[in-house]
Amino acid sequence: MTVRPILSIGHPTLRVVADDVPVDRIGSPEVQQLIDDLIDTMRYANGAGLAATQIDERLRIAVMEVGENPRYPYKPRIPLTVAINPVIEPIDDETVVINEGCLSVPMRGDVERHVNIRVHYHDRDGVAHDEIKRGLTAGTWQHECDHLDGVLFIDRVTDPATLATWDEFERFHRDAFVERITDFVERVGS
Ligand code: ZN
Repeated sequence: MTVRPILSIGHPTLRVVADDVPVDRIGSPEVQQLIDDLIDTMRYANGAGLAATQIDERLRIAVMEVGENPRYPYKPRIPLTVAINPVIEPIDDETVVINEGCLSVPMRGDVERHVNIRVHYHDRDGVAHDEIKRGLTAGTWQHECDHLDGVLFIDRVTDPATLATWDEFERFHRDAFVERITDFVERVGS
């Protein structure tokens, strides 16, 4: 198991547009090792996702996984997903405001995300996927794909008054957010 250091906001690599992975390189030992490192580091940090730029690698690879988390019971599960060269297309104009955090940013804040998206990506076996994602899961995809374009969630925070440290989020904002988002998840189903 290899846990890599996670870069914090201010590190220049978090602001680069990462390079596509040539499909014939996906099976290479270097790319497969990077994928393993991303998974190990995401799990160690207890994150819902991690992009390669966050561990100082300029390749378009992100991993996502949400298991049972008693701290965030409202979060729908995401099976372990490796997204290589992911491309997102919104399906319609429906949006939702999600309070987001990030392993590279020591704050949380409200971000507007598309509710229904189509995603194209390759997995670690080189298989191409074309899938529909909805709700909070779609939000996680948008957050991770933003990283591959050098975009952090705080760039999308339209109301800076929603910014909060984790401690103050827990104290003052968590309950209201959980109540609102639980209703949303029940309606959207993911
Ligand atoms: Zn992030």
